[in-house]
Amino acid sequence: MTIEEGKKYLDSVLAEILESTPEMNLPTIADRFNNIYGVSKIENDYIYVIVKDLFTKVLIEKFNSIKMNELLQAKLDFKMGFKFITKEDAEKEEKAQVFKNSSLDVKDISARNLRAEFTFDNFVVGESNRFAFISAMKVAESPYSVLNPLYIFGDVGLGKTHLMMAIGHYIYDQNINAKVVYTTAQQFVEDYFVYTKKDNKNIEFFYNKYRLADVLLVDDIQFFENKPGSQEEFFKVFDYLHEKNKQMVITSDRPASELKLMSRLKSRFSWGMPVDIKLPDQALRVNILKRKLESLLSTPSDVPESCLEIIANSFTSNVRELEGALRRFVTYCVSMNIPFNEESVYLSLQGILPDQKSKQSDDVEEKIKNLKKVVTSYFKISEEDLISSSRKPILVYARNLCFYLIRHEMNLQLNTIGEYFGGKDHATITYGISKFKDMLSYDSGAKTDVLNIKDKLNK
Ligand code: ADP
Ligand code: MG
Repeated sequence: MTIEEGKKYLDSVLAEILESTPEMNLPTIADRFNNIYGVSKIENDYIYVIVKDLFTKVLIEKFNSIKMNELLQAKLDFKMGFKFITKEDAEKEEKAQVFKNSSLDVKDISARNLRAEFTFDNFVVGESNRFAFISAMKVAESPYSVLNPLYIFGDVGLGKTHLMMAIGHYIYDQNINAKVVYTTAQQFVEDYFVYTKKDNKNIEFFYNKYRLADVLLVDDIQFFENKPGSQEEFFKVFDYLHEKNKQMVITSDRPASELKLMSRLKSRFSWGMPVDIKLPDQALRVNILKRKLESLLSTPSDVPESCLEIIANSFTSNVRELEGALRRFVTYCVSMNIPFNEESVYLSLQGILPDQKSKQSDDVEEKIKNLKKVVTSYFKISEEDLISSSRKPILVYARNLCFYLIRHEMNLQLNTIGEYFGGKDHATITYGISKFKDMLSYDSGAKTDVLNIKDKLNK
């Protein structure tokens, strides 16, 4: 059953009920039915009916659902029922669904044998990848010219495969008949093994697969190291295609000169254009996160930029990890139904955030020591009491103030803060911080304390 059909059944059932309702009760029922908005989905033998709010849902379930299901069943020769869902819940589900559908983990290899989302459109350009991007665009726009082969190199997770596949998509889009062949060096080695060693008759398949390409994309060429047989075969393929003026794009984790490959092959790679992708800077990382967010959420503006900045600050060397962190944060908030804010960034990324303690090292240590000193003397308490778990109000207050200041001044992870206070867990820290924030909003004394302590810290 489609949603459209579900809706028709719903409408006719409602009409029947209204028709058979005594005049006296009609206004109440009609009113209630006005709060039925439509059908959100058909799932597991149920038509999910969207209603205005929980109140309506309860009323309908109590007074109308049995009749509705009876009437529905009378129209169908298979089992089906109505379920009711509030508008709010339906929207939440839809949000989660959008998120699920665009999950970047899904290996969406289209008929083209290229990841559908690896297009130029989806590639965010910054300082570190501009040259690679422009070169890739040039190749895509006018293949078979001087940039042959285009040799893209750089560390893992920086977008080499993405750019390479973008070239493939672009060429396909220009000419549906172009034969774009994407392969990894690893696949090439396997093919070579299967077609030449195991079953000699298939050697033609092997050759055809690669030699008939108009555009050959070979990913992670470093895999050819120490595989002389495959290198030899690839050398032949390369010369064959080059001769015929076919475009080749190659990626590697290093410049060709640093690969342990036969020198004939290395010199071929330097015929065309070597371009590298460097580590993204903070601005590019934030821009990439913004772009990814658009594909994860239907309302990306729900996520404050400060959250993206924290994530971008923490994952600096690999865009895949950067994306992974964002996805984890978004899933976490959606599934736990908590707001997208800085707290939830830290909560959702506990354990995978790089250890900020070791990064910021002694500096943090020194600052916290100093803070404890200032706070204990300000409130005339001992450090032992400050880091204890005593619930004495003055101690709880002083402790929460510390958590608050550390978090806001130093941006430390919750668990790390906990470690400095007798090994408290992140929940305790979060709770303490939010308690203190509340106080700041109504208690001017708390504000004064913060100002005084900050003042002393700066001395
Ligand atoms: P590599 O092949 O260099 O290891 P990939 O091309 O597989 O890296 O990229 C890893 C992930 O990071 C992919 O999901 C890719 O879409 C993403 N990515 C890398 N650079 C960018 C960029 N500049 N803009 C958008 N996404 C990027
Ligand atoms: Mg890759």
